[in-house]
Amino acid sequence: MTEQTETVPPAHDVARDIVLEARGVSKHFRVRHNGGDLLARRQRAVHAVDDVSLQLRRGTVTALVGESGSGKSTVARLLAQLYPLTGGEIHLAGKAVKAGSGRSFRRYVRQVQLIFQDPFASLNPVHTVRYHLARSLKIHGRAGSGEAELEAGLTALLERVQLTPPQRFLDKFPHELSGGQRQRVAIARALGADPQVLLADEPVSMLDVSIRLGVLNLLKDLKDRLHLAILYITHDIASARYFADTTLVMYAGRIVEGGDSETVTQHPAHPYTQLLIASAPDPDRAVAPEEQQESGSGEPPSLIAPPAGCRFHPRCPRAMERCRTELPPRFDLDDGQWAACWLYADTTVTTEATGTKEATDK
Ligand code: SF4
Repeated sequence: MTEQTETVPPAHDVARDIVLEARGVSKHFRVRHNGGDLLARRQRAVHAVDDVSLQLRRGTVTALVGESGSGKSTVARLLAQLYPLTGGEIHLAGKAVKAGSGRSFRRYVRQVQLIFQDPFASLNPVHTVRYHLARSLKIHGRAGSGEAELEAGLTALLERVQLTPPQRFLDKFPHELSGGQRQRVAIARALGADPQVLLADEPVSMLDVSIRLGVLNLLKDLKDRLHLAILYITHDIASARYFADTTLVMYAGRIVEGGDSETVTQHPAHPYTQLLIASAPDPDRAVAPEEQQESGSGEPPSLIAPPAGCRFHPRCPRAMERCRTELPPRFDLDDGQWAACWLYADTTVTTEATGTKEATDK
């Protein structure tokens, strides 16, 4: 196996730093339904993800935060090309990639690795750690030419995820490991492909609280040492502040706010982000209690027939008339923060589809 290389971050170049990009990505799932007329049956679909654009940069963690059912895990699966897109494009290193079997798609699958929430389910219980890791190295052509090289590769992977001494773990079965150790093996298996991107779908939510920090610190270490781009999917906005450079907030299939993690978590602009923050206790929070109380209530909407206008309007304590009919575009705020909310209509608006800017005075 070729030793996983620790790369030195290149001189800052924002465009070149973008490894993976979603442009206006949508995913609608058809719903089976026997009632109603033929046309209604054809048109029923779950709008799981609508018009999502995001960029993952080398050496950074981007958190995608939202309640369960908000579509964030679907975004991870779309980026991993496990589902075909309903609309939009995915670009790897600036080039559009389509699911298929060609060389560029095989390269994509190697470079973009998904880590699942449940490490026990993602590892085959009848196979050892050695089997899982050796298989990854072989599939991705990194096993070397002999037993000694393969053994060195296995050892390097386990050391990389801090399971040491490696000989203690190589011949264990998943049930002989703790949850945290299993997740480390799942991460090592992903590293076997020598990826540029890790898509971590709630990687610590099924682990004991006491070991979550260790796994997050490991991912942070990999980001720094291997200069990986990491998408961190979570419902825990407090962990996004600790772990992610950038935070994006998702509600009912759409991204509603984004910016650097410190700003988004300490000065949330979108009423939904304020609701999330208010329900996640944090003694360091800068938001005053009276602001926290201005949160919404109720349940997320059905994504089969999502509300018109702003999807958050049925729960939003600050909803206005236009919120019920007009979809808010993305409004740029200070320091790179933005929010898709009509409260900021007197700032500058960025048209997401084209990236062009126009001044508004509404
Ligand atoms: Fe609330 Fe309107 Fe903003 Fe939506 S657009 S979050 S309904 S104020």
